Amino acid sequence: MPCLSEFDRFRKTIRSIQKISMPRVPKIGILAIQGDFAAHAAMLESLGAETLEVRTLADLAKCDGLVLPGGESTTQLQFLQEEGLFEAIRKFAEDEHPVFGTCAGAILLATHVKNPPQDSLGLLDITVLRNAYGRQLASDVFFGPTKLKSGPMEMVFIRGPIIDSVGHGIEVLAEYAGKPALVQENNVLAATFHPELTEDPTVHQHFLALIEECAAKSSATT
Ligand code: GLN
Repeated sequence: MPCLSEFDRFRKTIRSIQKISMPRVPKIGILAIQGDFAAHAAMLESLGAETLEVRTLADLAKCDGLVLPGGESTTQLQFLQEEGLFEAIRKFAEDEHPVFGTCAGAILLATHVKNPPQDSLGLLDITVLRNAYGRQLASDVFFGPTKLKSGPMEMVFIRGPIIDSVGHGIEVLAEYAGKPALVQENNVLAATFHPELTEDPTVHQHFLALIEECAAKSSATT
């Protein structure tokens, strides 16, 4: 009978053969309670990813990454708390699985929510003000500078939150009107706008690259 270290070596070899011969397509969960989850699925699938609608703990367990779509953050929060998904998503992100929130999803990810105050997952060190862009900015298309590509990024705002302040560990990847609009801290990404409602795949491509990066890190440590 092989000793444990031989067995571990054997297991690692099998894993690397599997990786070379059949690269696994990442499975990306999209929280599908309400809001624009279908638009995220369409964008991610057009980029070659496999998506899965997430409504239960069992759904989440099958995912390599998770999208929290736009919609109504209060309704979504209540569902997450009732279904046990609130704690499960926190654990999912703490285990270094990538999570990407857009608009209401960004509100759910924030450490502090104002206007009015609301409970949140606290996975991203930002303070957000709900529905805080002025009336003329409430719902429209704008362009802002980004680090992810040359030229401005198209941003669709729909009663989006303003990111009022960010913690030290936050990288600002795009801005609109002097405020961060796309931010990242390690494996957690959030946009106050809706990249899934444009033709521009830049933000979703960035999220897929993050998923690959995190998967590579976790397979190097197992
Ligand atoms: N106004 C919504 C909220 O505060 C967010 C809107 C959106 O996701 N487009 O929850």
